[in-house]
Amino acid sequence: MRIVFWFRHDLRIHDNPGLAAATKAAIQAGVVLEAVYVATPQTWQRHQLGPRRADLLLRRVNALGAELAARGIALHCLSVPRFADVPAALQQWLGLAPAALYANRELPLDEMRRDATVSARLTQQGIECHWFDERCVLPPGQVLTANGDMFKVFTPFSRAWLKQVLAQGVQVAPLPAPQGAPLSWSEWRCDYPRLDSESWPVTEKAVRQQLWDFVRYQAVAYAELRDVPSLAATSRLSPYLALGVISIRQCLLALMEALGPLPAEKGAPGFAWLNELIWREFYQHLLALEPRLSRGQPFKPEMAALAWRQDDAQFALWCQGRTGYPIVDAAMRCLNQTGWMHNRLRMIVASFLTKDLQLPWWWGERYFMQQLIDGELAANNGGWQWSAGTGADAAPWFRIFNPTTQSQKFDPDGTFIRRYLPELADVPASDIHAPHRWLQLRGRQCDYPAPMVEHAVARELTLAMFRALPG
Ligand SMILES: Cc1cc2nc3c(=O)[nH]c(=O)nc-3n(C[C@H](O)[C@H](O)[C@H](O)COP(=O)(O)OP(=O)(O)OC[C@H]3O[C@@H](n4cnc5c(N)ncnc54)[C@H](O)[C@@H]3O)c2cc1C
Repeated sequence: MRIVFWFRHDLRIHDNPGLAAATKAAIQAGVVLEAVYVATPQTWQRHQLGPRRADLLLRRVNALGAELAARGIALHCLSVPRFADVPAALQQWLGLAPAALYANRELPLDEMRRDATVSARLTQQGIECHWFDERCVLPPGQVLTANGDMFKVFTPFSRAWLKQVLAQGVQVAPLPAPQGAPLSWSEWRCDYPRLDSESWPVTEKAVRQQLWDFVRYQAVAYAELRDVPSLAATSRLSPYLALGVISIRQCLLALMEALGPLPAEKGAPGFAWLNELIWREFYQHLLALEPRLSRGQPFKPEMAALAWRQDDAQFALWCQGRTGYPIVDAAMRCLNQTGWMHNRLRMIVASFLTKDLQLPWWWGERYFMQQLIDGELAANNGGWQWSAGTGADAAPWFRIFNPTTQSQKFDPDGTFIRRYLPELADVPASDIHAPHRWLQLRGRQCDYPAPMVEHAVARELTLAMFRALPG
């Protein structure tokens, strides 16, 4: 009998429900657990897996291989072009001996379809398939309105979520017992475009330490500092939550160990951070329960009729960080250079693309997936549809960020802007948010573009676009 655990976006040993169950089954059957990972480069391309995120992913798979080997578990890495090839690859690798496959559920539509096919094919071959929930604290479908529907507004969802979590507590899966003497691990190579992600550690130990340091030393000040992009005041755990190097339950438990019982009221220490984790949970539930989100459709169906403009040249300027709005440009250049963007800046650039340029939100969503080190369908789709006004509990369409006042408010002395726009280094703080007059008055030759649109005019065009919707 072979007992196999299939790793996907749950690349960790701690609090891994499927892995814990597989280990238990292996011990009961008197066999050594095996683990498998399946790379699918063509599907990764289609899902916009960018080179930096790919590097982090492949480094993490290797680190996991070594961590498992130290516990006597062999990780076998397979590679096939597409999701569609996975069932046959697993079937062939498992062979004809009796076997059981364990895995945690994934929530995007293509992943759910792949798993349904794997399940059908392997079950036919007599292989048992066991599926577990790990992505959320409460599985999708467990936080519903009195009518049994998914909440479409965040605040009542978060209240209902908190009520259940406070009542039942947070449980983590047991740490799997070592399976035998340590094995050796040789580096696995996968042919896929990569860009250096070395500044992000990949061992489970380092990531757990990062969580601990954040909850101990920064979680309380987070409420006050989290919107300042020039500071490193947020946890930077999103790339790891996306790949599953750490779980959301581990985050909650760490928060409780550092600050006491879960903060249930706005203003309580740690609540602001907990609230962001609940936003994550909200978007995961929406993705699982509303398949149209995986198909690129707006959450509000009536918004499908919006007449977004199709201007490739303007989109290229936004991508390059050459819009003439310093906060937008610094944010985009930071993304292009590092794969990272602060949450406040994500909201500002997404609002600029959709509400100042009237370009389709899904162009921005796709670009973010290609560039972000933490690209993740549920949160990215949620963030883009929130900004565009087409999503669940989105910013109302008539509330439009002014990029200049956002810049004045959140980067008042231009510290962040200067970091990524060195050509504006000596512009005084009073002019850094709209530097063109200052540059002109001094006759300065500076390779910084004039604003590509006038915000007040662009705002009116956007309001007209939304008002033109039928009904
Ligand atoms: C347009 C847009 C696109 C986004 N794309 C992504 C994406 O691809 N991947 C991604 O993980 N997040 C995305 N976000 C959400 C958010 O910007 C990031 O999760 C956050 O900036 C990550 O930084 P952190 O880990 O320091 O977060 P912290 O502020 O420390 O928050 C802790 C964790 O909570 C979750 N979280 C925080 N804010 C949000 C949010 N608004 N929505 C959902 N989850 C949240 C993340 O998992 C994060 O790691 C996007 C937001 C916007 C506005």
